[in-house]
Amino acid sequence: MFLLITFYSSVTVARFGGMSQQIKAEKISTPESGYLYLGTTDSYPIIDYDGNHEASGRPDFLYGPDTGPRVVEFYAPWCPHCKKMRPHYIAYAQRVTKLVNETAQGQEIKFYAISCVVHSMICKDYKIAGYPRIFAFLPGQQTPAIDLFPKMPHPFELMDKLGLYVDEDTKLRNNYVPESESLADRVVSLMIRGEMSHPRSKRDTFHDAVLSFNFSMRNLFTTHGPLPDDASKTLHQWLSFLRKAIPRQLVEIHRVIDSVLKDFDSAIKSEENMLAILDQFPKPLQSEWSKSCTKGQSEMGYTCGLWELFHIASIGIVEWNSNTREDRSKAVSAVDAGNVLRDFIAHFFGCDECRTNFLKAFDSCELDRCNRLRPTMITRDWNEFPLWLFEMHNAVNLRLMREQANEEKRTLTEEDERRTQWPTRLECPGCYNNTVASFIKEAVLQHLRIEYWPDDQITQEYRKRLGETLDGRQPHIIFSAIELFCGLLALALLLGYLLRKSLLRRRRNLNLKAN
Ligand SMILES: Cc1cc2nc3c(=O)[nH]c(=O)nc-3n(C[C@H](O)[C@H](O)[C@H](O)COP(=O)(O)OP(=O)(O)OC[C@H]3O[C@@H](n4cnc5c(N)ncnc54)[C@H](O)[C@@H]3O)c2cc1C
Repeated sequence: MFLLITFYSSVTVARFGGMSQQIKAEKISTPESGYLYLGTTDSYPIIDYDGNHEASGRPDFLYGPDTGPRVVEFYAPWCPHCKKMRPHYIAYAQRVTKLVNETAQGQEIKFYAISCVVHSMICKDYKIAGYPRIFAFLPGQQTPAIDLFPKMPHPFELMDKLGLYVDEDTKLRNNYVPESESLADRVVSLMIRGEMSHPRSKRDTFHDAVLSFNFSMRNLFTTHGPLPDDASKTLHQWLSFLRKAIPRQLVEIHRVIDSVLKDFDSAIKSEENMLAILDQFPKPLQSEWSKSCTKGQSEMGYTCGLWELFHIASIGIVEWNSNTREDRSKAVSAVDAGNVLRDFIAHFFGCDECRTNFLKAFDSCELDRCNRLRPTMITRDWNEFPLWLFEMHNAVNLRLMREQANEEKRTLTEEDERRTQWPTRLECPGCYNNTVASFIKEAVLQHLRIEYWPDDQITQEYRKRLGETLDGRQPHIIFSAIELFCGLLALALLLGYLLRKSLLRRRRNLNLKAN
């Protein structure tokens, strides 16, 4: 006969993500009592069935109709394997609970234990002949769906089997490798998804952007020349814009821009003149786009590098503007930046379909462009240009994926669509707002800068901050130097005013005393 020692206590147990969980343990038992987990402080989240709540002695979580996904261990406290199993079952339950909390919000898997010594009737119902036995049950079902002993599946596999939804990126971010899948399979699957296909370094990005810039410059003329007036005007504006927006480190681009602008009237007269200017500069040692753009097909890469050039310039123009404090007339508003880009694409982007689609989206104010790209001179408004471009690019990514699916007559899942979006959750977890499935602007801006701007001190700081968002902290709001200066000035004026007031009061008091 087992002795049940009962007393009431409230225990604070394991911490998950900084949140302490409180459980009310109604009975604290020694192992001799017939229970292994009941009321012990280290056993959270296991609920050891104590038989207190159902007169029938048959718990709702096993026999009831409204049950959720759950795991149940049937054990005997005397069985050595059960005792050995105890810390593993607890650790497994904690691991699953933590992952469910972090990755499958609003869903849960409960973990129970049933002592077959105290509740032998239940164990007979379930024909438990040996201990321990651990089963997982699907919601609403009374028959076990999965046998978890001796091999417990990875928590994500368990979640999958019990119908909890977790997206693929979250699994990868948590280093999930299904046991049935070898490491080689994983690499292949990542490559198919395009996430690891050809990892891109910043050097690749800049190299590809330079090649695409050169390519576009060598292919400006679609007739023998000269360039029509509106095209010439557009080219001048485009090059002047790039001169401001491209980082100084990309000397290859700056040299070409300076030379073409210097001899502009001659350059626009004919293709020969233009090429003569361009030919003054040595060809890049590496004349092919990086693998991240070509994906193994050497003729590919131009459009990819062009996007990269655009993104670099979009970050660069904000950077340029921030440095024009002394002379705001040199700054380029978001609306002007958008128009310059539009006109360049309209006149000089050789991909017909791309151009048509882009202009259609631009001119019909898609993505709220007409309200977002403003003529104002405020950092927040300047930032809309890189953000809008990033969204335009994502919209193209999505459209291409949909077109491909249409051709292949397959339906895209939400997950497929999400994968077209850049950056992936794997690349920038802090960029995503998990609750409303949207991007966090500040984090995306920082990520764009990390990807498309040389590694200066600000970028380094952003890297650190984004690292912090991985711990669940929100990214900080970006203050420009000018905003900081205005704040300090306002503070100084306020202090001056208060000081003056107090001096005047003191003088008045002295005067009164003197009188
Ligand atoms: C303005 C423009 C419009 C286009 N329109 C069409 C079209 O209508 N139809 C068509 O078939 N092709 C279009 N293209 C070409 C197409 O977008 C791709 O460039 C091409 O399919 C090659 O794709 P990719 O996988 O190499 O990556 P790309 O889409 O070219 O992207 C280059 C790199 O940019 C990064 N990136 C991806 N998304 C973003 C983002 N949202 N923000 C920042 N960086 C990102 C990635 O690292 C990627 O490797 C267009 C290209 C441009 C420049």
